[in-house]
Amino acid sequence: MRYDAVVIGAGHNGLACAAYLARAGRSVVVLEASDHVGGAARSFRTFPAYDARLSAYSYLVSLLPDQIIDELGLGVELRRRRISSYTPVGDGGILVDNGDAGRTARDLGPDAQAWEDFYGMTGAVAERLFPTMTEPLRSRKDVRSLVGEPAWTDLFERPIGESLERRFVSDPVRGIVLTDGLIGTFAGADDRDLLANRCLLYHVVGRGTGDWDVPVGGMGTVTDSLLRAAESAGATVLTSHPVTSISTDERDVVVRTSDGRQVTARQAFANVAPTVLDRLLGEDASRPEPEGAQLKVNMLLSRLPALKDDSVTSEQAFAGTMHINEGYEQLGRAHAQAAAGRIPTVAPCELYCHSLSDSSILGRDLVEAGVQTLTLFGLHMPARLFRSDPAGAREAALSATLGSVNSVLAEPIEGCLLDETTLEVRSPLDIEASVGMPGGHIFHGDLQWPFAEDPHDVGRWGGETRHRNVFICGAGARRGGGVSGIPGRNAVAAALGEAALDG
Ligand SMILES: Cc1cc2nc3c(=O)[nH]c(=O)nc-3n(C[C@H](O)[C@H](O)[C@H](O)COP(=O)(O)OP(=O)(O)OC[C@H]3O[C@@H](n4cnc5c(N)ncnc54)[C@H](O)[C@@H]3O)c2cc1C
Repeated sequence: MRYDAVVIGAGHNGLACAAYLARAGRSVVVLEASDHVGGAARSFRTFPAYDARLSAYSYLVSLLPDQIIDELGLGVELRRRRISSYTPVGDGGILVDNGDAGRTARDLGPDAQAWEDFYGMTGAVAERLFPTMTEPLRSRKDVRSLVGEPAWTDLFERPIGESLERRFVSDPVRGIVLTDGLIGTFAGADDRDLLANRCLLYHVVGRGTGDWDVPVGGMGTVTDSLLRAAESAGATVLTSHPVTSISTDERDVVVRTSDGRQVTARQAFANVAPTVLDRLLGEDASRPEPEGAQLKVNMLLSRLPALKDDSVTSEQAFAGTMHINEGYEQLGRAHAQAAAGRIPTVAPCELYCHSLSDSSILGRDLVEAGVQTLTLFGLHMPARLFRSDPAGAREAALSATLGSVNSVLAEPIEGCLLDETTLEVRSPLDIEASVGMPGGHIFHGDLQWPFAEDPHDVGRWGGETRHRNVFICGAGARRGGGVSGIPGRNAVAAALGEAALDG
């Protein structure tokens, strides 16, 4: 088989890449290892007995630019959440309600002004920085003058903990802000490598606002529309075709699959993680092995549980991101325990109910019965904790996490499950096994600054490799990570030139 381009992996970024390539007139084949497309951006009937199509892994969209939605004609509806977050604190809590500024300010107490200032600053950064994510890489100096002070020092230069401790007085508010720096990222607020800063940055700049919106119909609709865009432009998508090796003489690329087939193409686009690409190329690039750090739990509930805090309804509390035991000190303790090889005793985690914002993912019977979905994302659960005893550690992590959830509820969550089968838990090792993300790292590796760190990379796109005809089009590219399509588009710009994106 001979094509102009071969894409390895049909995650949403591989599909975005294939769509742009095909629109540019290239013959394209996408080779996907599993029997379905979408990677970690996918919906399915997690609990086969029930007609509920859950966003099985990723669930909210922030980083997908309108530019890509428009260029590829994606039929994606993103719904804004009125409640941004709720955080139980003692007998009360903090509700960040975009529809009630007075209530939000009251709940934030002495930190209300600091909150305004911080998110005013990140909002201004988002407005300026996000449009550059789909442009050639700028230099560090250019981005520094683009974002200005105090944003540059606070977000890009000094460990995020310094800014949070200086700006906010209350421990829970510091914690709420910090969580954006710890999603899928095993880091401390004071770490000098600024890993938490980079993660926080990607969580506050999306779509030029930093909002996290609900994909109506579930995350699978994003992938379905990308698949349609790729196929209708002429790309061939082959599932159950695991790639086992890639070789290049810099003119042609030869890709082999596990059943012995061989595809020859002028250019290859890797939707797999950079460490996986190294292995497929038979190269040792001495990159650090990625390590994911989250516990993922999906649930179907017969009803939402009641809370200890009676100043909010369950509908308010679960409609946004509910932060549980994610105080600043709690996060620090959990990180220290996990770094010492132990499952955190008070497990920090966040919950979100998709069906409150969008019940279209449920069959009519379930809607009428008042069934709700619940997704939980646990922090500071690095893959290393699960390696020696994967099943035992998974159980222990789940038990610590449900204990943490129950500490803020008026009734145990287990009593609200639709039945005893409607809870699914995945450790980073499970994510590695089911999606192929090495170490279960949700970004294929640690997030990188969205500018050229090496002056030679200014003007490039961030998906180039040492080979002139092999590109990274997935989350592991610079400016990858999350559900965005950005690295898919950028890889095509790198390979064919920006003009080819016009289709
Ligand atoms: C639990 C969880 C929750 C998340 N929550 C969010 C969220 O709410 N919002 C958000 O924006 N992001 C979230 N993320 C991150 C986001 O889902 C990922 O960063 C994004 O989906 C990566 O997309 P991708 O297309 O680059 O790679 P992937 O989704 O990893 O797709 C890569 C594809 O390559 C295939 N593949 C692997 N090896 C081979 C091979 N040898 N041959 C052929 N094919 C191969 C895989 O099967 C897969 O289909 C979450 C991730 C996880 C795991």
